[in-house]
Amino acid sequence: MPSISSLWHFFWQTSSVHDRPRKQIMSERLDVIAVGAHPDDVEVACGGTLAALAAAGRRIGIVDLTDGEPTPYSTGTAQRMEEADQAASELGVQRRIQLGLPNRELMDSVEARIKLATIFRRYRPQLVISFGDKTPLASPDHYQAMLICDAAVFYSRLSKWQDRFDDLQPHMIDRHLYFRLALEPITLQGNNFHTVVDITETLETKIRSVFCYHSQFDHKHGIEDRIRAAAVMTGTLAGVKAAECFAAAKPYATEDLWQSLSLPK
Ligand SMILES: [Zn+2]
Repeated sequence: MPSISSLWHFFWQTSSVHDRPRKQIMSERLDVIAVGAHPDDVEVACGGTLAALAAAGRRIGIVDLTDGEPTPYSTGTAQRMEEADQAASELGVQRRIQLGLPNRELMDSVEARIKLATIFRRYRPQLVISFGDKTPLASPDHYQAMLICDAAVFYSRLSKWQDRFDDLQPHMIDRHLYFRLALEPITLQGNNFHTVVDITETLETKIRSVFCYHSQFDHKHGIEDRIRAAAVMTGTLAGVKAAECFAAAKPYATEDLWQSLSLPK
C-alpha cells in the first residue's frame, strides 16, 4: 500500500499546454482549482482554505499563470519551482500546473484564456478561486490574471469550439469565488456576496506554505505578522480565531441555513 505522500503527484508543465496529449482521462478530475499569477499568490491569498479543503478530502489543483521570474533574490526558475512544489505539498494539493505565460508582461489575451480554459476542461473543477480585484502598488499581472480567469471560466463551457481546447468537451464550472491577497482590505469592493472561511485549524499550514518561498519572503520582515494579523482580523469579524474572505462572482443559495450560519445542531 503506497503512502499518502507517495500518491501526491506534482508536476510542473514547462512547455505549452498544447504539447500535452490531445485526449485526457477523466479520472484526473479535480474538485477545486485556484488560479494565481505567480507562484506564492494562491498561498498568500487562500492557503488556509485550500489546506482545509484538502484535509476534508477534496482534490485541489493550483494553476500558476507565470513562473513569477525574474525576482530580485531568486536564483532563477528552478528555485521558484522547487519552492512552489514544497508549498503545494505543505497544503496537500494534488496538482500544481505551470501555464508558462510571461511574468511581468501578463496580459489578458485569447491565447491566455484558451490555455486556462483548456485546464478547466481537462480537470473539470466544480469550484474555481481566483483574483477578484486590482492590487494597487503590486504587480499588474494580478489584475490581468483576474481578467484571464473570468474569461476562461466562460470559455470552459462554450460549445462548438472543442478544436481550440485540445478536443476536450465543454465544462460548466458551478461556482467561482474571488480571493484577495492577505494584506489588502477585508472585502472586495464592488462585490456584494462575501463568504468567510474559518481557517483556525490551517492558519499555521498556510504560513508554512508561504515560507516555502525563501526567495520571496526570507528578506521581507514582518510578513508573517501581517498574514497572521489579516487572518485574525477577518476571523474576529466572524467570531472565529482566523479566517479568509472570498467574494462570490454570483450569489449562491444554501439548502441548510442553520449549518451555513454555524449554529449548534
Ligand atoms: Zn503575485
